[in-house]
Amino acid sequence: GKITIAIDGYSSTGKSTIAKRLASTLNYIYVDTGAMYRAVTLFALQQGIISERGEVDEATLIDKLSEVHLKFVPNKETGKSDMFLNDVNVEKEIRSMKVSRQVSKVSAIKDVREKLVKIQQEMGKDKGIVMDGRDIGTVVFPEAELKLFMTASPDKRAARRYKELLEKGEEVTYPEVLKNVEERDRIDSTRTISPLTRAKDAIEFDNSDMGLEEQFERIHEFAKR
Ligand code: C5P
Repeated sequence: GKITIAIDGYSSTGKSTIAKRLASTLNYIYVDTGAMYRAVTLFALQQGIISERGEVDEATLIDKLSEVHLKFVPNKETGKSDMFLNDVNVEKEIRSMKVSRQVSKVSAIKDVREKLVKIQQEMGKDKGIVMDGRDIGTVVFPEAELKLFMTASPDKRAARRYKELLEKGEEVTYPEVLKNVEERDRIDSTRTISPLTRAKDAIEFDNSDMGLEEQFERIHEFAKR
């Protein structure tokens, strides 16, 4: 039968690459929960709820949360899903540094997490799902049959991210990306609600020196058991 696969870990550890590939091999649904937190952050930026200095007006954001409507829409060209915020395709915008710089602060807000976790649990209620994020194995699907926890050295991760951003035409420097990756990990691991941590029954995967093929082969083996 179909199972639930939870993939958590630090920023830019290649979670989504593995998750997408697993989902397409197993014919499962793939859900990128980071895209949802990024979309809420974009909403806050659009609404002017985050100041120039990066302070989030939590009360106003919580007040306006009911105006946030998220949707994943399959994109035939890329074979992936695009994130829609209030019926606008924001797939590209949510990956920008502007959003990356603020997302961990927004993700630390209890009401934001409650809203998104509820949607995620609803999406996975029929199993046959691969979900990646920071709290999938610990909070969203503590009963998931397969849990992975991905790690890699900060410089490997930042290099990966930097390459991706350059390919997208974003103007960034490597030190800036490294700083952002480390900053997000720090905030994500130390927040009081649902901090990023390995679930006791998650299999840890350090892919600093592992190619994509090898990683995928090993993980696919776990999924078959
Ligand atoms: O996965 P991605 O790097 O796109 O996630 C962006 C941010 O969203 C993370 O740094 C984290 O702050 C937040 N996030 C979260 N819980 C999740 C997924 C993402 O807090 N399940």
